Amino acid sequence: MSDLLARHRAVMPAWMPLYYETPIEIVSGKGNRVVDADGNTYLDFFAGIVTNMIGYDVAEVREAVEAQLARGVVHTSTLYLLRGQVELAEKIARLSGIPDAKVFFTNSGTEANETALLLATYARRSDEVLALRNSYHGRSYGTIAVTGNRGWKNSSLSPLTVHYLHGTDRSHPAFAHLSDREYIDVCVADLRDVLSTTAPNVACLIAEPIQGVGGFVMPPDGLFAAYKEVLDEQGILFISDEVQTGWGRTGTSFWGIGNHGVTPDMMTFAKGLGNGFAIGGVVARGDLMDALPANGVSTFGGNPISTAAANATLDYVLDHDLQANAARLGPLVLERLQPLEQLPTVSAVRGRGLMFAIDMADPATGAPSAELAVAVLEETRKRGLLIGKGGLHGQTLRMAPPLTLTEEEAEEGAAILVDAVTAVNDAVA
Ligand code: PLP
Repeated sequence: MSDLLARHRAVMPAWMPLYYETPIEIVSGKGNRVVDADGNTYLDFFAGIVTNMIGYDVAEVREAVEAQLARGVVHTSTLYLLRGQVELAEKIARLSGIPDAKVFFTNSGTEANETALLLATYARRSDEVLALRNSYHGRSYGTIAVTGNRGWKNSSLSPLTVHYLHGTDRSHPAFAHLSDREYIDVCVADLRDVLSTTAPNVACLIAEPIQGVGGFVMPPDGLFAAYKEVLDEQGILFISDEVQTGWGRTGTSFWGIGNHGVTPDMMTFAKGLGNGFAIGGVVARGDLMDALPANGVSTFGGNPISTAAANATLDYVLDHDLQANAARLGPLVLERLQPLEQLPTVSAVRGRGLMFAIDMADPATGAPSAELAVAVLEETRKRGLLIGKGGLHGQTLRMAPPLTLTEEEAEEGAAILVDAVTAVNDAVA
């Protein structure tokens, strides 16, 4: 074991996972590639953890942060006017499409979702909420409560009452033969069924338009519009968790929820916005945001350094129309990966924009296989490609490269993936 790994194990929680049998220490990055402490270079097909939205060492982001540092203004207090914070809030409010939107900044996706849940439960005077099975919304007391995955679930004893909807995971055999429309109808019937058992003032539905940690699970377009129609009948609020799906990543829409033709009451965001610098937040209808009878700031939420990075990152995404890049390169990568579905160890390949998933399965039983997913991760690493994993059973390979991906890198990453999955398949099938 390396010295750093031993030290990590000694002082970090046992429940913090590290990728790879021999974990990597990343020491530098440039463009869409990173370099480890041993000098190995990798093409990053997971963008950090979907955090480095526009790659590494981007001049515009570096210069914005350096300019902030050069002024000596790291005076971090949201008790004073912060120009960068207001500018960023204006941009996000405008991009959100939410009427009279207001923005509150946090340091992470978890805090963003905590804030959204606080706003919704207060507005509706209810601690009863709806969430989706197989969801992930963070690792705090409240957000674990709305996370529909037993990998985290057992660790929170939050008193929130949570009802889980079928949601986005269609892998159950009962849904296999259904068309998209039929599946949406089943989901809506399920929602109505759940609501027939609850108090009339359920606070909200919180959902990811594409489930991230859950394995890039992609529901049929229109599902959330159908849900919202029912929610609106009772005034139940809809929170779209855009932590992984925002900023054009899905190619076909700036926000993941836009693919469903519906505007939520609130959206939460984090991850890619600061291109590695910590920032998250909630954008919500102004009446909901203002209603909270609170008098509080987040000490670090929307601080000068993070907002400098975020303003530069968001401007870069918009100026270079990276949503269009995701729309252009996503189908290319997906086309290269699709043939893997024929392998006995692969149960599904899917993608939308620059989000791709490959589900690994035991060739004998067809059961989800975390073991094979781990084996593919090791194979991609050997070939100079970083990817992620996830899924309810740890069976899903997740790819979410920076939105700055080039066509050559798209081809390179796809070729390595095909090679690595085929190698693992051939070894066991
Ligand atoms: N929501 C979603 C959809 C996520 O994927 C994550 C993190 O993976 C979170 C919330 C929590 O964000 P953070 O890790 O920044 O607290």
